[in-house]
Amino acid sequence: MQELFEYSDDREERNAARANALESLLIEKGIIGEQSIDKILEYFDTKMGPFNGARIVARAWTDETFKEWLVEDTPGAIASMDFPTGMAGAEGEHMRAVANGPYDHNMIICTLCSCYPFPVLGLPPYWYKDPAFRARAAREPRAVLEEFGLNLGPDVRVHLWDSSAQIRWFVIPERPYGTSGWSEEELVRLVTPESMMGVALAESP
Ligand code: FE
Repeated sequence: MQELFEYSDDREERNAARANALESLLIEKGIIGEQSIDKILEYFDTKMGPFNGARIVARAWTDETFKEWLVEDTPGAIASMDFPTGMAGAEGEHMRAVANGPYDHNMIICTLCSCYPFPVLGLPPYWYKDPAFRARAAREPRAVLEEFGLNLGPDVRVHLWDSSAQIRWFVIPERPYGTSGWSEEELVRLVTPESMMGVALAESP
């Protein structure tokens, strides 16, 4: 099985070249338009991405009642905020948020493929789909987290959440120290995609 996880160093370039070739072919055959792919990518750049998740987390940091609602009924709590249409659809119907605490750290993976909460996090990074990451995160999460630069104390429990077509998880990281009195708008800047995947903490101020 080991060789299945071994890739050449230029795999991203090769996959990008293959994707470009497929796009050209689909345009040439008249199956998609010249701008189709760019429009989809622009949507993920401007409407559906980690900037949405950051706003939701910042709201949870400043409003404990909202945070409880977000954990209990994630789509309901998100629907109370002012987001573009589409936030509830496109893989967003069954999102669930889990909150980190002083002794609990959450991490999301998809062991089967690459299920991801598109509306709050956008498109998954390349490594999230990597079979080696998916297997190792399930088998030795602490070792993987250390490679991401996250060293958790022995008294912190690690919880893994396996996303699927039924439920797509994201993490509410802990609010960083030194941010009391910060507004939601200021806090948004500290919420990284990695912190909502659980491979990092929120940024320090
Ligand atoms: Fe998946």
